[in-house]
Amino acid sequence: MAVVSAIMQSSVEEKIRSGMVTIVGPPNVGKSTLVNALLGQKISIVSAKPQTTRNRILGIVSGPDHQIVFIDTPGLHTSSALLNQEMIRLAAETLTEVDVIVFMVDAAAPRPAQDKIARDYLTGTTIPTILLINKVDKVDKARLLPVIAAYEKLHDFTAIIPISALRNDGCDRLLSTLVDLLPLGPRYYPDDIPTDASERFIVEEIVREKVFKLTGQEIPYSTAVVVESFKENEKKGIVTIHATIIIEKKSQKGIVIGKGGAKLKQIGEAARGDIEELLGCRVLLKLWVKIKKNWTKDPRMLKELGF
Ligand code: GDP
Ligand code: MG
Repeated sequence: MAVVSAIMQSSVEEKIRSGMVTIVGPPNVGKSTLVNALLGQKISIVSAKPQTTRNRILGIVSGPDHQIVFIDTPGLHTSSALLNQEMIRLAAETLTEVDVIVFMVDAAAPRPAQDKIARDYLTGTTIPTILLINKVDKVDKARLLPVIAAYEKLHDFTAIIPISALRNDGCDRLLSTLVDLLPLGPRYYPDDIPTDASERFIVEEIVREKVFKLTGQEIPYSTAVVVESFKENEKKGIVTIHATIIIEKKSQKGIVIGKGGAKLKQIGEAARGDIEELLGCRVLLKLWVKIKKNWTKDPRMLKELGF
């Protein structure tokens, strides 16, 4: 009894502003960039190509009086491929279980398509929604005002905040607005954990990002990375990681490996740098490339790979 009441008391004392926030919006508007800026740590894949985020990554921002749990959803878009349907389902699902929705648009992108997505996803929702107009570094201030006015008509947004996620401009205002909107609740996670994604998962995301960056437009986003083993040698202060890059076609294998293995080496070196920074120790990264035909269309394979 004494133990139970002690626990209850501590949870009563610990009331802070806390809850779940999802960041949604069309692909490529800067959602992952924002999560990274807010966390000051690379946890969510950022790419110049759309649709590279597939998983729900939790990033957690904690302060003395608040804890915000961020979900970085896949981009909202329409397409018939099974993988894309799965991403849309995940994105739509998160819209119903959060305390605040952050809807992001690109200030420099054409409006009509973005407006349609906003209307489709926000119609009927009663969850407080902040509209973030990102990439304001790319447009004239004068051009922003009519855009803001148009969005005010489109949905009853709780706030409209222009930001530049890339330059970390406006992020403070976003955080304080979010804290004000969150309910009083418990601290869900310990303060020193910025994400609940495992190190393995983050490593997979980092390698995947390097594959995209270094193969240009040639490798589609139907690429997965699986960490096969992750071994720490504490005495030597080194972590040995074996990972496999999974692609769909034979032709892609050549692209990822490159002449005499040059491309794969480049991917490995770039990824190793980021992973060493993340883990704070030396890393030995070994990469393999495997072909699994049509895995993006195979429900069983998708499940196996964690989608
Ligand atoms: P997501 O698909 O919405 O997660 O978009 P990403 O975060 O992957 O970003 C897509 C592209 O937009 C990347 O090339 C980013 O560097 C770029 N980007 C993101 N935020 C900004 C910004 O505030 N200003 C500019 N100029 N570019 C940005
Ligand atoms: Mg993303």
